[in-house]
Amino acid sequence: MVAVDDYIPELGEGHPDQPVPESRVLIIMTGGTICMRPSPAGLVPARDFQDQCLARVPTFNDGSITTMMEVVTSGEGEIKPHPSLRTPMTAYGRRVRYTVFEFDELLDSSSIDAKGWAEIAQTIQRNYTLFDGFVVLHGTDSLAYTCSALSFMLQNLGKPVILTGAQAPMLELQNDATDNLLGSLVVAGHFMIPEVCLYFNNKLLRGNRSTKVAASDFDAFDSPNCPPLAVTTSMRTNVNWEIVNRPKSIEHFSIQTNLDTTHVACLRIFPGIKPEMVDAVLKLDGLRGLVLETFGAGNAPHGQDNAMTKVFADAISRGIVIVNVTQCLTGSVNPVYAPGMSLSKAGVVAGLDMTTEGALTKLSYLLALPGSTPRLVASRMSVSLRGELTESSQPVFRHPDGALPERVQALTVLGYAIAQGDLARVEEIIRSEHHWLLNDADYSGNTPVHLAATSPSINILEFLLLEGGSVHIRNRNGRTPLFLAANAGLSEHVMLLRKSGAHLHSDERTAAQLLARRRPGVWGLAGIGPREVSERELEEAGDGYRAGSQWTMMAGSAP
Ligand code: ASP
Repeated sequence: MVAVDDYIPELGEGHPDQPVPESRVLIIMTGGTICMRPSPAGLVPARDFQDQCLARVPTFNDGSITTMMEVVTSGEGEIKPHPSLRTPMTAYGRRVRYTVFEFDELLDSSSIDAKGWAEIAQTIQRNYTLFDGFVVLHGTDSLAYTCSALSFMLQNLGKPVILTGAQAPMLELQNDATDNLLGSLVVAGHFMIPEVCLYFNNKLLRGNRSTKVAASDFDAFDSPNCPPLAVTTSMRTNVNWEIVNRPKSIEHFSIQTNLDTTHVACLRIFPGIKPEMVDAVLKLDGLRGLVLETFGAGNAPHGQDNAMTKVFADAISRGIVIVNVTQCLTGSVNPVYAPGMSLSKAGVVAGLDMTTEGALTKLSYLLALPGSTPRLVASRMSVSLRGELTESSQPVFRHPDGALPERVQALTVLGYAIAQGDLARVEEIIRSEHHWLLNDADYSGNTPVHLAATSPSINILEFLLLEGGSVHIRNRNGRTPLFLAANAGLSEHVMLLRKSGAHLHSDERTAAQLLARRRPGVWGLAGIGPREVSERELEEAGDGYRAGSQWTMMAGSAP
């Protein structure tokens, strides 16, 4: 077995007999400088971005015949065909087909709020099964907040969501818009990074770790406490797979849209700040959570006779969650000094190395979850939900060289263990620090999840999914694990995959429909054919995927 490179393994370079594969990406335009044009009132967002800014540029349009892409445009499931464009062949031997979906109102991002975030989340959810990845175009001013908010709102995300913008408009002669958008399209169309990310100035940052650090430099964003997930060079985009976060539960992609942004606030401590000022903020009508930006490792003045500490303790006893983040660009809140200690004794939660943007949006997300209590919210604020904080900094000892041979070897051994149904061996290999193996691929582009989709042991498939293996990657023939499981007639595997959010890719549907004529039962479970089993039915079946035969019967006939 050879470790094919890290891109979504599908038909690729070196396979001259195969047609050039295409990825499908939806670009969601919300506004921002990237699409702006001058007006008497200054720069304002302008419509028709695809025609005005992309259609005439050879790097965004290979000149092939325009085909239509279906986009779900409303909550009622209304589908509108949108003309698509296609990039020329990338360094990875594929093209990216995309279309731009523009919001009704294009915003300067300084005016976006939780309603706008919900609109983005809903657009992604409605179109989730139609595209391989999503690019969101957005102003840079509040981009880090939107990235952080979306990272929490998009639950069990299995596909890349890349946000970007620009410091200079696309139609400006010297701009950063071209590189930022092209880089985002390539990432969304090639790499199965199931995270909300921010792509800017050739770097892919984890969205909820990012912050805007420059008002006009092209290098406008950084994630000071987290290395970039990927960096684009003149040769290629290098992904740091070891730090990519993956969903680790057998659940569908879902969204949580109602963030409680109206009952949270942010307060920066400064020398001389008075307890009365802090008290006034903490007594704001309806306040439920406060992000406190403190000095250094999490210190705040305790005030004359501990008056400040008392203000915090009183607010916490009234049920307000107070989260401590540092004003410093790097480092973590760590109660080592007496002032920091007294804050944590008063019940202030350590936000560790979260950004203010991350802490504020996470607080709003947790406060809005059904059944949230101050105690529950406080305890989850110090735990990583989407890689937004570093829980502990234990040293990891690792052999510095030999990564490639080790990788190839481990993938081969893993492939055998899966084929033989040897769960214990699979667990041993994956757990001994080989998480990056999960989305790696063999010479046919099959990932471990592809192999497990037809493994004699369903427990192996379940294990790999719970470890974060992706259900959306396609092999060199363009097949998803779900297709392979259905084609092998394995109902249990099909149901488990679907419960994990798997769906057939639109390119697979025609073949699947033909195959479904012979085996309607199992293909129905995969979502194709006369008796298509819906996600809700699977949900209601609970752990019913264990009872494969019952579902096979419901779906029409035996596999
Ligand atoms: N004011 C603009 C915005 O955030 C700035 C930008 O896009 O760079 O929408």
